[in-house]
Amino acid sequence: MADPVSALQAILGPKGWLSGADAASYQRDWLNRYGVAPLGVARPATTSEVAGVVKTCLEFGLAVVPQGGNTGLCGGAVAEQPNAVILSLSRMAAIGEPDRDSGSIVVEAGVVLAALHEALEPHGLMFPLHLGAEGSARIGGLIGTNAGGSHAFRYGMMQDLVLGLEVVMPDGAIWDGMRAVQKDNAGYQLRKLFCGAEGTLGIVTRAVLRLHPTPRQQASALLVMSDFAAAVSFGAFLRGEAGEFLAGVEFFSDLGLQLALKHVPDLTYQLGVRGDVYLLVELASGSTRVPLDEILNSALEWGMEQALVLDGALATSGAHRAQFWRLREEQPEGQRLEGEQLKHDISVPPGAIARFIEAGAKVCEDILPGVRINPFGHLGDGNIHYNLSPPEGHADFGGKAVAFADALSALATEMGGSFAAEHGLGRAKIAMADRNRGPVERDLMARLKAALDPEGIMNPGILVRSRLERKTFE
Ligand code: FAD
Repeated sequence: MADPVSALQAILGPKGWLSGADAASYQRDWLNRYGVAPLGVARPATTSEVAGVVKTCLEFGLAVVPQGGNTGLCGGAVAEQPNAVILSLSRMAAIGEPDRDSGSIVVEAGVVLAALHEALEPHGLMFPLHLGAEGSARIGGLIGTNAGGSHAFRYGMMQDLVLGLEVVMPDGAIWDGMRAVQKDNAGYQLRKLFCGAEGTLGIVTRAVLRLHPTPRQQASALLVMSDFAAAVSFGAFLRGEAGEFLAGVEFFSDLGLQLALKHVPDLTYQLGVRGDVYLLVELASGSTRVPLDEILNSALEWGMEQALVLDGALATSGAHRAQFWRLREEQPEGQRLEGEQLKHDISVPPGAIARFIEAGAKVCEDILPGVRINPFGHLGDGNIHYNLSPPEGHADFGGKAVAFADALSALATEMGGSFAAEHGLGRAKIAMADRNRGPVERDLMARLKAALDPEGIMNPGILVRSRLERKTFE
């Protein structure tokens, strides 16, 4: 029997295998919290090469860690043991011709999200998933984490945008589920099983994605709100007024604005007034006959009459709209550049956002007085990125990270929400999942994993503990 590296090199050819210093840029996660040097990085160019890599890893007892753009925020795309192969999909980046009549497209798993947006532009079609990391995140990773982003409220999460999939299973078999239809009730919804599986059940190699016509018009506004309760009330009003034209309601806090303006070059805020919270509201329509500006303006007037909205401006051009979006999208960067941070990816029913923010502030103040709270996210679907910076003058959180995570997860669960809204679990939240899931749910997930990946080679140590590991844990 050859050694594993020779066997993998024989499958992949010279371009397809990296090790040592060449593999260094694949090693650590985006937040630089996890990752050890793997045996090497496999960069297959075809599905059959992916299958060959998986079979070889199975034969030699190596872990397989799929990696897309490595922008995941839970450390799921890097190795935690040296006898692992990182399987990068970056060379599988072909984009098919869009099928306009059906509203679908076939893509390989390594396609970068922004490249897909760009490729669709001339066709008057769009793939409606948008997030801050879209310049690097790849389709396989977006499926792996079941990504959400700023338009999930209107178009759904990745699982709602995937029609068909091709997946290399943990034994190297290739599942061809590349159907291009929304309605397919022939048994279990296998395609959904891989959305959010974080590479623990198989490797996505191709997908059929659902497309939408590009809106012919958009109306966007940046609003200054008196507080979070006002933001929630205004969001609910807007849902009624704008109905299906409402494409997104994003929010960020005044601390978030301060940090972004302090750290991110060329960022400007042009409204005269500051408030506790800001909303970025967007309406979109495929028809030019719908009076979007009028709908948004009259909602704004109502908000001002009710003293919910302190100030606001409608975007007057594409560049103006882009300026508003940058303020929202640079929130993670502003906080990252401020230094040490704790991230919590919470969701609660949208109507409970203000209550969560208020109760969360009390919980956090009790744990570490003066801790700076910087919530931002997706008001439309109740997803709060509840991020913390240490108190002014402190370099860190004084060992309180777990206390914050536990208290905030418990609060979200109590309000009918989730402690892991759109970023997944990865390595970062596996212990939290153990504490927050009931025994039946934990067991279901472990059984599913064991049934599909009995040797446990697919991305071990993330998302789910094997039943054996759980015995030790419990
Ligand atoms: P990676 O980080 O490479 O991988 C993520 C997971 O998927 C890993 O477990 C990996 O093993 C698995 N995986 C990768 N490729 C495959 C494959 N082919 N088959 C099976 N499994 C695979 N997320 C949101 O949902 N909404 C946001 O608004 C959002 N904003 C972000 C903003 C910033 C600035 C950053 C840095 C991240 C943000 N994220 C957001 C998180 C991140 O971008 C998403 O999780 C994204 O889906 C990850 O894609 P990726 O290609 O980088 O995946």
